[in-house]
Amino acid sequence: MIPGAFAYHRPASVKDAVGLLSQFGDDGRALAGGHSLIPMMKLRLATPANLVDLAGIAELKGIRAEGGDIVIGAMTTQHELTASDLLTSKIPLLRETSLVIADPQVRYLGTLGGNVANGDPGNDMPAVMMCLGATYQLAGKGGDRRVAAREFYQGAYFTSLEPGELVTAVRIPVPPAGHGYAYEKLKRKVGDFATAAAAVVLTMSGGKVATCSIGLTNVAETPLWAEDAAKILTGSALDAATVKAAVTAAEAITAPATDARGPARYRTKMAGVMLARALARAKSRAA
Ligand SMILES: Cc1cc2nc3c(=O)[nH]c(=O)nc-3n(C[C@H](O)[C@H](O)[C@H](O)COP(=O)(O)OP(=O)(O)OC[C@H]3O[C@@H](n4cnc5c(N)ncnc54)[C@H](O)[C@@H]3O)c2cc1C
Repeated sequence: MIPGAFAYHRPASVKDAVGLLSQFGDDGRALAGGHSLIPMMKLRLATPANLVDLAGIAELKGIRAEGGDIVIGAMTTQHELTASDLLTSKIPLLRETSLVIADPQVRYLGTLGGNVANGDPGNDMPAVMMCLGATYQLAGKGGDRRVAAREFYQGAYFTSLEPGELVTAVRIPVPPAGHGYAYEKLKRKVGDFATAAAAVVLTMSGGKVATCSIGLTNVAETPLWAEDAAKILTGSALDAATVKAAVTAAEAITAPATDARGPARYRTKMAGVMLARALARAKSRAA
């Protein structure tokens, strides 16, 4: 339960943080809220010789509107996501998701950047970011670049981040006014990671689905964007037969592990149940 020895660094700029991480290579890790990394260090599953704390970097904080997007600094905490009036009015799905992450103590320190960069399939924000069509802004030794959330996740704890690279912000296109949304998460108890969860954003026109996007959490090695299921629903009135077909399509792309949260087949079925519930709630909220 005691981490290995490490040197602590507290840069004041992204440039300095990237410089340190590039210099340390495999011997360095960024530290954000510490609520995934420090437990891993205590279990000695991670033993970085150098921790580069991002907490002193002001440019990584804040939530702002920019054109048709909302840009959220990587060091914005999950609590700050729940408390933002801008997010509550423009992208309420983020507040709904943040509120089912862990417990208040974790949310006060855990950051959006850490949640999306971690690569843990159990993290809730990655599938939500896929559902919303978000883009991650990255900074590294070679300069800045952007990667779509839908292309970022390559395996469990394996992302498109290059060594020494940081997520600096998450950029989300604001969904149309009147969109319906829901994040449905099955967990064994309050504060637990998902057995399975589904995020939905949709728009309705004339009683039919005009646009639809679906993300699934913790039912594969990576978060999933259920593109085929959303296509099945588009143009439908979300009638029972079409929802059933979409649920079947979504279940077909899952490949969960059998673990303490249940056998793989159960978790696949729960992903389908969460999706059906999220669709119903999103529809009821759509103008
Ligand atoms: C009891 C408990 C319950 C939890 N339950 C949930 C849950 O239900 N759902 C959920 O989603 N999460 C859950 N978490 C995890 C929590 O949300 C973490 O805060 C989050 O996963 C990581 O964010 P962090 O800021 O704490 O990152 P850290 O732990 O500091 O970092 C995590 C990893 O990301 C890297 N990293 C951090 N920031 C950046 C960055 N800006 N750029 C590049 N790499 C970076 C670090 O180097 C590290 O490898 C839980 C945690 C605990 C302790």
